[in-house]
Amino acid sequence: MALTGIQIFKLLPKTNCKECGVPTCLAFAMNLASGKAGLDQCPYVSEEARNQLAEASAPPIRPVKIGAGVRAFTTGGETVLYRHEKTFYNPTAFAALVPASIPAAALAKKLKEFNALQFERVGLNLRPQMIAVKDTGDKAAFVQVAKTVSETSEFNCILITDNAENMAAAVDACGKKRPLMYAATAANADAMGNIAKEKDAALVVKADSVEALIPLVDKLTGMGIKDLVLDPGSREIKKAMEDQVFIRRAALKQGNRSLGYPTLACPCEMADNLDVETMLAALFVAKYAGIVVLSDFRGDTLFPLLLERLNIFTDPQRPMTVTQGIYDINSPDENSPVLVTSNFALTYFIVSGEIEASKMPAWLLVKDTEGLSVLTAWAAGKFNGDDVGAFIKKSGIMDKVKGKEVIIPGFAASIVGDMEEELPGWTVTVGPREAAHIPAFLKSR
Ligand code: SF4
Repeated sequence: MALTGIQIFKLLPKTNCKECGVPTCLAFAMNLASGKAGLDQCPYVSEEARNQLAEASAPPIRPVKIGAGVRAFTTGGETVLYRHEKTFYNPTAFAALVPASIPAAALAKKLKEFNALQFERVGLNLRPQMIAVKDTGDKAAFVQVAKTVSETSEFNCILITDNAENMAAAVDACGKKRPLMYAATAANADAMGNIAKEKDAALVVKADSVEALIPLVDKLTGMGIKDLVLDPGSREIKKAMEDQVFIRRAALKQGNRSLGYPTLACPCEMADNLDVETMLAALFVAKYAGIVVLSDFRGDTLFPLLLERLNIFTDPQRPMTVTQGIYDINSPDENSPVLVTSNFALTYFIVSGEIEASKMPAWLLVKDTEGLSVLTAWAAGKFNGDDVGAFIKKSGIMDKVKGKEVIIPGFAASIVGDMEEELPGWTVTVGPREAAHIPAFLKSR
C-alpha cells in the first residue's frame, strides 16, 4: 500500500528549506502522497529514506513498455479516473488474434492487410500495435508464427499459451521485440514468472476474478517481476466492465499496489462477430483497458475505434490543433480557389472533409488560432484581418496560384476591410458560414 502524507513526512529532512517549491516539508509530503510532486524535487532526502519513499512516489498504475520499433507502446501510467480531471496518457493498444495454425501464405497476406490499416489524422498516424499469436498445440508452428510476425512486420506480439516450454521458445523467437506473455495463472505462475524474469518480457496475470488476481500479482512481484498486465478473466459484459472500473478505482483511490497495473480485455472471447466485438472494444477504450484483443482487424471496424481512442486520449484541457500551413485538397493547381480557416482540429476536419466531398480542387490555408474555432478566434482577436492577411502573405500560397482571391469563412465577414488593406490587389470573398454549404458554394463559382 502507498504511504500516507504523514508517513512520508516522517522520512523527510524537516528543514522547510522550500527548495522543492512548497513552503514546508509537510506540504511536500502531502503533494508526494497525492502524486502531485516527485521525489527528485527534494535534493536532501537520504538514500535510506529514498528507498522507503520509492513506493510512495511510484505512479499508482505502473507504466509498462511493450514491444519495440515504431509500434512499441506504453500502457498504464494513468493517474485519474475521469479524463476531464487531467488527461489519460497512454492510449489503449489494439491486438488481432492469429492462430499458430495459420498457413505461411495466409499469415503473410494478413500481415500485409493489417499493415495497410493506417490512418492519418491531425498529423498523427493512427494504427493498431499488436498481433496476438495463439498456440494451437504445435510448438514449432507457434514459434514460427511469432518469429514471422516479429521479423517481417512492425507489429509486436502477444504470445498466448499456457505451455511454459512453448512460451519460452516463442519469446526467444521474438528476438529484440519485447513480447507480452499471456498468461501467468494459478497453475503456471512459477514457470511463467521465471520466463518473464529471465527474458525480461512483460507478463499478463490471469485469474477468475479480481480477488484471485491479487495473490497471484503479489507472488509474481515477490519474484522480482515488475511489468505486469492484469486480466481479471471476466468475459460477461457487465462483469467485465465492473472489473475494469474496480481495478482502476482500487489502484487510484485506495492505493492498492497489487492492482496498480494496466489491464487487458478480450472482446474476441465475448462475442461471435467482429461488429459486436468492436462495440465492446469501444467500451473498454473508454473504461479502462490498456490492451484490447480482437478476433480480427477490419478497416470499417478498426477506424472508428482508432478515432475513439484518439479522442479519449487527448488532453481535454487543450484544444486539438492542426499545423498552420497550406493543405492541398483534390490535387489543386494554379487556378484553384484558396480558402482560409482556423487550426482547431474539428474545424479543419469538417472544412477539409466538405471540400474533399465536393471533388473540387482547392487550397486550404490553416491559420494558427491556438486551437480556437473561427468564430471564437475572431471574438478573441486571433482571426482578425491584419493577422489573417499577414499569414496569407507569409504562407507561400502566392507562389502556388495565379489568381488573387481568398475565400474567408462567413462568420469572419467583418474582417474583409482589414484584409484587403493588408493584401492590396486581392479580392476577399466571404464564403458560407456553415461548412456544409462549401460544396455548393465552390460549384457555383
Ligand atoms: Fe523539505 Fe526537501 Fe522541500 Fe526542503 S526541499 S522543504 S527539505 S521537502
